Order: sequence, then C-alpha cells, then structure tokens
Amino acid sequence: MISLTMRFIKIIFFIYVFLISTNLLSQSNTYNTSIPNKGEGLNAFLIRNNLNPTEHKAEFIELNKKNLGKKNSLRKDVAYNLPNTEKWIEEPLFGKDRSKFKLDSNILKGTVFHLVSGHGGPDPGALGKYGDKTLAEDEYAYDITLRLAKRLMENGAKVNMIIQDENDGIRDESFLKMSDDETCMGATIPLDQMKRLKQRTEAVNKLYAQNKPAYQRCVVIHVDSRSTGKSIDVFFYHAPKSKSGKKAAEEIRSVFNTKYNKHQPSRGYSGVVKDRNLYVLRKTIPTAVFVELGNIRNFSDQQRFILQDNRQALANWMYEGLLNDFKKHK
Ligand SMILES: [Zn+2]
Repeated sequence: MISLTMRFIKIIFFIYVFLISTNLLSQSNTYNTSIPNKGEGLNAFLIRNNLNPTEHKAEFIELNKKNLGKKNSLRKDVAYNLPNTEKWIEEPLFGKDRSKFKLDSNILKGTVFHLVSGHGGPDPGALGKYGDKTLAEDEYAYDITLRLAKRLMENGAKVNMIIQDENDGIRDESFLKMSDDETCMGATIPLDQMKRLKQRTEAVNKLYAQNKPAYQRCVVIHVDSRSTGKSIDVFFYHAPKSKSGKKAAEEIRSVFNTKYNKHQPSRGYSGVVKDRNLYVLRKTIPTAVFVELGNIRNFSDQQRFILQDNRQALANWMYEGLLNDFKKHK
C-alpha cells in the first residue's frame, strides 16, 4: 500500500515537473495580443498593429484559427495573438549555444563581408608560449573572426567565413585547443603557402563576382609573432594604391585609438595603417584590410587573446570601424 502511494506521488510529481517545463518552454512562444476595433477588417487590423498583411496574414490566421469567424472575420472582444516579427538567424559555425541569434538591425543590409581567418588546416601560424600552454595563432584568429562575423550578421550583413571549422564554434575558454581540420569553405587547406593563399583568394574572388554589385569588403585577420617577443601595436594593412582599402583601414584604426585611449590611456597606443605588398591584398578583388592584432609571443599582447572578453572587444572594434567605413564610403 505504501509503495503504491509512493508510486502515485512520484507520478504526480513527474506530471507536475512536466507541466512546469512545458509551461517554461511555451513561454518563449508567447505572443502580443490585440483586440479589434468595432467592424475592423483583418487587413486593417494587421496594419494597425504594424504587420504587413502580405507577409503576416497567413501566420496570423494559423495562430488564431479557433477564434476567427466566417471568411476569417474578426470577432468582437477577442484578444488575438499577433505573429512575432523578430527575425532570427542561424549560423551553425558559431557553435551550439550561439548558432541561433536575433537580428538586431538592418543597418548593413545589402552588404557582403568576406572574412578570412589567418592560417588554418595544416598550418597553425605563429605559436606562442604561455606558461606550459601553447597558443596557436590560427585558433585565436578564428575565434575573433567568428565573433566579428556574428556582429556583422546581427546587423544585417551577409558574411562569408572563408576559413571554417565545423566543430569549433565561438569559444569562451582562455586556452583554445589546437586543431588542423579547418577548411577553406569545405575544401582541404594545402600546406604549401602559395597554394594556401591562392585557394583562399580565389574563394573570395569567386564570391565577390557572385555578389556584385553589392558593397563588399574582405577582412583578413592574423595574430602574428615577432622574433623579438616585444609588444606590438595593431597593424592595419591595405593593398598598395588601394584608396578604399586605406580608408577602411583608417576607420578601423580610429576606433581602436579611441577605445585604447579610453581603457588604457597610459599605454600610448598607436595603431598603424600601412600599405603592404601581400599576396592576399594584391590578389583580392574586393577592397581588403589585413589586420595583425598583436604578438602572440608577447606576454602583454597575449592578454588581448586569452581572455574571451578581450577577443570580443577586438571583434566589436573591428565591427564598429567597418560600419563607419560603410556609412562614410558606401
Ligand atoms: Zn599570421
């Protein structure tokens, strides 16, 4: 008898937990409601609620079918559910927890960004030592590139991640595990440097042609090393004679200057804009900026990379610079 009672209590308990959990889940699907005015037709009602009838009528009818009259007429005193107009985007490359995110604005609508994270595949790029840990340039560049991609997409841009790693989303840990399974949009990355650079440049140029005449920019992101181990400023390179590249680089540098002066006034930061005869800059058809974010062998520069907040800040600043560039030079 006791065990039967216990079983009964258990069942009730599970039903209770189930109800709570489904209720919690359904909360993400709660809708705003609105009551029709007297004699108001469906189209007029939708328009009054800032919903475009062509876009939202079908969904509205689906949501409210139980409460609609003949020929989908609205009933008096019924609070109708309004379709959600929030737009969500999905990008599996950002990792499980971040693959679905909300569109914040359409400020970059119509733009296309080709983001090239440095190195990858068989080439980890520069290696730094931090205690007994090894920091690989390609992993940190990739994480920052993903964060930049997300910011751009959240604001309406179309982004092509040229270098991809299916299983490394945006990572919050300090020490990013090395892997060599990155691809160039699905294709194996060759070890030979010339072949490697040619592959990614051709990928960008192909996408550029497909997206013409949209506003397009290419950003190449590196975390480099200097043999001296000294702290370096952030370098923004553009192709020789590229006016648009120089402007884009200057816009990004200007954001970095402002932020560094605000956060580390004692450091005397100076980002450097320079032209440089690099293969990826020379051969890339869209306007391109090559960013070198610091020296992975320098202790103080390493702080820029191992803290996820700092990686996010670097991505945010590049985003702001690219946005300013777009606003001024589109
Ligand atoms: Zn590099």
